[in-house]
Amino acid sequence: MSYWEDKWFKNYDFAVIGGGIVGCFTALKLIQERPNARIAIFERGLFPSGASTKNAGFACYGSLTELESDRKHLNDDDVKALVKLRYDGLHLLRNTLEDKEISYQENGGFELFMKPPDEIETRINKMNALLYPIFKENVFSQENKRIESNGFAKNKLSTLLKNKFEGSIDTGKMMWSLHEKVRKKGIALFTSTNIENFKEQRNSIVLEVQSELGLIEIKTKKLAICTNAFSKKWFPKGDINPGRGMVLITKPISNLKINGCFHYHQGYHYFRNIDNRVLIGGGRQLDMEKENTSVFGINDNIKKVLIDDLKNYILPNTPFEIEKEWSGIMAFGANKLPLVKRYSSRIVVGIRLGGMGVAIGSIVGNKTAEILLEEL
Ligand SMILES: Cc1cc2nc3c(=O)[nH]c(=O)nc-3n(C[C@H](O)[C@H](O)[C@H](O)COP(=O)(O)OP(=O)(O)OC[C@H]3O[C@@H](n4cnc5c(N)ncnc54)[C@H](O)[C@@H]3O)c2cc1C
Repeated sequence: MSYWEDKWFKNYDFAVIGGGIVGCFTALKLIQERPNARIAIFERGLFPSGASTKNAGFACYGSLTELESDRKHLNDDDVKALVKLRYDGLHLLRNTLEDKEISYQENGGFELFMKPPDEIETRINKMNALLYPIFKENVFSQENKRIESNGFAKNKLSTLLKNKFEGSIDTGKMMWSLHEKVRKKGIALFTSTNIENFKEQRNSIVLEVQSELGLIEIKTKKLAICTNAFSKKWFPKGDINPGRGMVLITKPISNLKINGCFHYHQGYHYFRNIDNRVLIGGGRQLDMEKENTSVFGINDNIKKVLIDDLKNYILPNTPFEIEKEWSGIMAFGANKLPLVKRYSSRIVVGIRLGGMGVAIGSIVGNKTAEILLEEL
């Protein structure tokens, strides 16, 4: 290593491991609060290669049945806190990047029911009352006429609910814009850089990176760990469980009528229109044992169910071809709250975003940075 390399590339005030949505927001908050600090993000992929570039791009708060299911495990205040986190997170995302930088479209979020749900009006009213303090308006309404206008199988679907506050983004564009913003702010962004290990010393932390020059040690005064589902290696006993999610996308379909973001089966399955293609994903609850993994891959049984859903319910009269499929890894814990906490006096973790990282990634990053900046 030269004197110059040592002086300029190997020492930082703050380092962030992970270049996904959380890592970027952590670094942006740090530079906002400490404009003269030397900050670096280390991302192991050539470009961000975690869930932030694999997801479906739903900007959502939770479908009616998903929130009802949460209500069975959480008290009402905790359910509201969960929705408020998503609400604040999406606002922060849209205040940080312009809507055109993420292709934000507020076309509404919808939940589909195959069988007629019991007492649906009463349930809608109850949930609207619970969420009123956050949205200051009713959130859910029944809009069954959209079953036909979206071209769905009207004889196989009974009910469609709308959440008018939900929208969608182009998730790749969001990450592109975030990386652009990070670089413009003078934050160093190293990709293809796998942090193999970190060691705490008295006044600093040493990050170990394998390179063509051998093992390089990078020093930082403080460290944020934003590696979400890939964090088990740092915290083998932590409450962090990986969960794989699958996505399929069709070739472009002419005259595609689908407009908005759709959920069914308590939010486990979802689909939307992107660039006149149908993106469909989810279904991990069908094979939890195999899907609780951090290994990328396609589960053929789940894929078959998703394709059957396209044929039977979503595109009943429209021929389609699947063009591409991929998987991404999420992180789950005993509850749905993210894990944002101090690991030591110099290290903070911001991880475990479940299936809602588009909505809460910004807030989790901000909070991670705030804790890191606290004077002890
Ligand atoms: C299929 C799928 C669909 C989803 N759909 C939605 C949706 O529609 N709406 C929504 O709100 N959320 C959705 N999510 C969830 C959302 O994508 C995640 O919660 C969010 O992206 C997590 O962001 P993150 O920055 O915490 O993690 P990640 O994006 O996973 O970032 C972690 C980064 O750390 C890097 N890394 C790991 N280890 C190291 C190391 N040792 N050294 C250097 N770098 C390392 C990884 O390469 C990765 O880029 C979905 C997720 C999946 C998988």
